[in-house]
Amino acid sequence: MNVEDPKVVDVAIVGFGPTGATLASLLGREGLTTVVVEREPEIHTLPRAVHFDHEVMRTFQALGLARKILPITGPVRGYEFRNARGQLLMSIDVQGQIASQGWRPDYMFHQPSLERVLRDDAVGRDSVSVRLGRELVGLDEDDRGVTLTLRDVGDGRTRTLRARYVVGCDGAASPTREIAGLEIEDLAFDEPWLVVDATVEGSVAELSLPEMPLQLCDPQRPTTFIPVAGPYIRWEFMLLPGEGEEMKDRVRELVAAWVDPDAIRVIRSAVYRFHALVGERWRTRRVLLAGDAVHQMPPFLGQGMCAGMRDAANLAWKLALVLRGESDALLDTYQQERAPHVRQVIGIAVEMGRIICTLDPQVAAARDAQMIDGAGQPGGGGAMRLPGLQQGFLAPEPRHPLTGSLAVQAQVRGVDGSEALLDDHVGPGFALLWNGPPAPLSEKARLALARLGARQVSILAAGSAVENLPGSADVVVEDVEGSYERWFHTNEAAAVLVRPDFAVYGATTEAKEMSAMLEALVYRLASD
Ligand SMILES: Cc1cc2nc3c(=O)[nH]c(=O)nc-3n(C[C@H](O)[C@H](O)[C@H](O)COP(=O)(O)OP(=O)(O)OC[C@H]3O[C@@H](n4cnc5c(N)ncnc54)[C@H](O)[C@@H]3O)c2cc1C
Repeated sequence: MNVEDPKVVDVAIVGFGPTGATLASLLGREGLTTVVVEREPEIHTLPRAVHFDHEVMRTFQALGLARKILPITGPVRGYEFRNARGQLLMSIDVQGQIASQGWRPDYMFHQPSLERVLRDDAVGRDSVSVRLGRELVGLDEDDRGVTLTLRDVGDGRTRTLRARYVVGCDGAASPTREIAGLEIEDLAFDEPWLVVDATVEGSVAELSLPEMPLQLCDPQRPTTFIPVAGPYIRWEFMLLPGEGEEMKDRVRELVAAWVDPDAIRVIRSAVYRFHALVGERWRTRRVLLAGDAVHQMPPFLGQGMCAGMRDAANLAWKLALVLRGESDALLDTYQQERAPHVRQVIGIAVEMGRIICTLDPQVAAARDAQMIDGAGQPGGGGAMRLPGLQQGFLAPEPRHPLTGSLAVQAQVRGVDGSEALLDDHVGPGFALLWNGPPAPLSEKARLALARLGARQVSILAAGSAVENLPGSADVVVEDVEGSYERWFHTNEAAAVLVRPDFAVYGATTEAKEMSAMLEALVYRLASD
């Protein structure tokens, strides 16, 4: 058997889908030697995901990819739910809004185009190499690392690769999960839907198609319509009892209720089973799972791929710290943090699915009456609020209310006078944000920051002269829109330690309390 790479690499990633590609880029940014093995020779040409949110865009920004990705997205104005008679059941308006992570709440996109950008970025990182046409067929784990057995899908020959850690990002059927013997729990949601992707010439408005995503809650045929981005549009038609794969041949008939079938070009139609599943264990000692390999959800919130991106963002910095010598118990916090989060998101998606997938006309009528009453209520706007982290690598009790939430990102002005989002001034990694000038830190606290590679950021009130500030901050910025002042003030925070995945590790009400929090963090790192 040949050896794929004579060296022991830090991380082997199985699967080069959106989760694997994002993780590879994040690990490459950390300088970790990373090999990605992918069974298919080319990118999957058929889109599945069409939506991602502002937190995911912030991860793309951290990789320096926001400018490349923006042109392949379309902003979302809002969403509507209507019943079979066209009555409005619910509407969400996000037009013109900027969400807490500094970007628009939602983006629509064409998945193969996004994967192209992500893959190119990963391939371009010095410490990342990619092997296409290699299929994982075996894993052999010991105390020091994992030996992967890979089969070349071209000539059938097998090779081995040795890595300190393996991350299975190999999708719903995950061979990594199977081989490692990690179980996945079925959350009892299983509905077959026909997904139809098409392109239009000109605009959707010219074809009298809806200009924003529409959930048609028609008990005779629950349907989703999505104007994706550029020329791409999508329908998702729920299959009724007794219907199956043959429905792929009835696309013309199904879309005829919406548009002249000759006015569009159907790219593909495929039947998917919309599932809800979560891994029971996300890790053996050295093999971890991420993305669809460890959770799947019905796409009613457009959050499946986003969850995989959150896994990658959560895992990358932990792997980097562990591979640089911190205790590998830190990797246990990956499942502790991500599993409850993804379960809550799945719960919301399933609840949404049960509303949408109603086939009983009487139940649908009762639902409609209830929702029509609520449709006029205020509060239907804004970005979807997802839960924060509840446990894991977070400051211990008693906790500041910001602990586990996502740190806001807003526009600030740097010492060079340029205005940009905060992360563009600070760079990736841990950041200690001070409301004003930094307070002096103890020697131990400063060592803790050095161990994390954290930067101290002084955020000064709007109108302050950032150029002239002396002191110990690595970065000084002016809060030009007052966003940070509001955030610090509302949450009674003087200083906030933000992790590389934007989650707040902890915060203090008084600046002088920060030393104690950082000193305690060192003990956590050693013992976790
Ligand atoms: C109809 C539909 C609509 C959706 N809409 C949305 C949405 O709007 N927003 C959203 O966030 N999510 C959405 N999703 C979910 C989203 O598509 C998935 O969560 C996402 O694509 C999963 O990415 P992944 O990288 O984890 O897995 P995958 O994309 O499945 O990638 C896995 C990769 O692993 C490779 N692989 C498999 N086995 C091996 C092996 N043995 N060796 C080597 N390589 C291997 C595969 O070839 C593949 O490239 C939707 C899903 C569907 C079906």
